[in-house]
Amino acid sequence: MDYNSFLTRDYKSLITPPREAKKPRWTRLHVLLLVAVILVAGTVLILVSGEAAASKSAVRTALKPDNSHNNQRVTIPLSFPALENNEASTTPAIDSELTWLTVKVKTGDALASIFNRYQLNPMDLHQIMSLGKITSTLKSLHPGQIFRFQLDKSGQLQALEYEINRLESLIVSRLPEGGFEARAVQHALDKRIGYSEGTINSSLFEAGKQAGMTDALIMELVGIFGWDIDFALDIRSGDHFSLLFEEQYLEGQKVKDGPIVAAEFTSQGRTYRAVRYTNAQGRSDYYSPDGHSMRKAFLRTPVDFRRISSRYGKRRHPTLNKLKMHKGVDYAAKRGTPIKAAGDGKISFQGRKGGYGRVVIIQHGGRYSTLYAHMYRFKKGKYVGKRVKQGQIIGYVGSSGRATGPHLHYEFRVNGTHRNPLTVKLPDAAPIQREYRQDFELKTRGLLSQLDMHTRTRVALNNN
Ligand SMILES: [Zn+2]
Repeated sequence: MDYNSFLTRDYKSLITPPREAKKPRWTRLHVLLLVAVILVAGTVLILVSGEAAASKSAVRTALKPDNSHNNQRVTIPLSFPALENNEASTTPAIDSELTWLTVKVKTGDALASIFNRYQLNPMDLHQIMSLGKITSTLKSLHPGQIFRFQLDKSGQLQALEYEINRLESLIVSRLPEGGFEARAVQHALDKRIGYSEGTINSSLFEAGKQAGMTDALIMELVGIFGWDIDFALDIRSGDHFSLLFEEQYLEGQKVKDGPIVAAEFTSQGRTYRAVRYTNAQGRSDYYSPDGHSMRKAFLRTPVDFRRISSRYGKRRHPTLNKLKMHKGVDYAAKRGTPIKAAGDGKISFQGRKGGYGRVVIIQHGGRYSTLYAHMYRFKKGKYVGKRVKQGQIIGYVGSSGRATGPHLHYEFRVNGTHRNPLTVKLPDAAPIQREYRQDFELKTRGLLSQLDMHTRTRVALNNN
């Protein structure tokens, strides 16, 4: 990864306004020369594409640079020689023994119907499908996918190339001794580091979109800082974020953004920073620069809720109509919404309990326990004594017991005492282990100083 070139490039674009391209002054001689050049280039192009019909990649490389160089100027002159030479480009090259046939999968296509359509030997298909698991991907085709069949002079199938997706292809080739062999080919991704930043005016989502972030990248950012910042309640206009993320390229085309490798979020004057670290076991997680986990040992809310229908504290009980302490938080949600274990632990109770209805209690070590009430049903396989991981589903929202509508009643206890789940200070998940400490600092230092540089640039620009 070439971090330096990325930095200088982006740095410059921040300070220097984009230079306007000089408009060329056209003379008659220029125009004549241009037309002549284009005519020659066009003819060469057509010849090249005709001969190279046998090789898609050759056509690709031949066409790519020309397209990008000629811009809009090519369109008109190229159209008439192209028409004249149209036949030549569809006729297979004479001197080549093998030809490639490119087929786009149509709606409802199976490989058998494609074989039938192009009069390929069904015995070959049978042999290919008998190669086992590797060719089982050929059973479920999707419209728009591309097949390339290599045929010899007699039209017999020699090889087949199938783009499973942009990252993976299947190549099947005929063996000289008979039969076929298949292999999967992974296209290597080229990683670069991208940078985005934004200031929130109305919503994080809008600010992220303006910064050119994908939805997935915005959700990643929320996932990283969601432990410290409540994105539904805490976000204010003027809050700011910046992030470095991997950009994955395939043959020069961007395939995907992410994961985020370092990020900063300032909310209501408080700044949080996170950096991604992968340990020796290959497990990646986000940490503060001093090695504390960005995650907490407990989820703040164990359910995707529509609204908080009742908070912790004294209130008039909706069904008993008595002033009573409400020892948890009620999250209104649709019946059947999954309820997640707030933290790692062991199920200590599962069953019906008076007004609670169907309830689950999880014990998290010696100090903490959480309770989930009014469930519609329990998750299968999650019973008393079972270990659960943070975020695992333990049941579904309902209105069993004393409840006016479907909601999750959630309680949080520390040493047996009820605490407000919305405000209780949650313990951090495990920090960087001592043995990885040095490695952590070594691997994250560069990313953090890169983030620093961007932040400083921004501050400098704002002050000018
Ligand atoms: Zn409640």
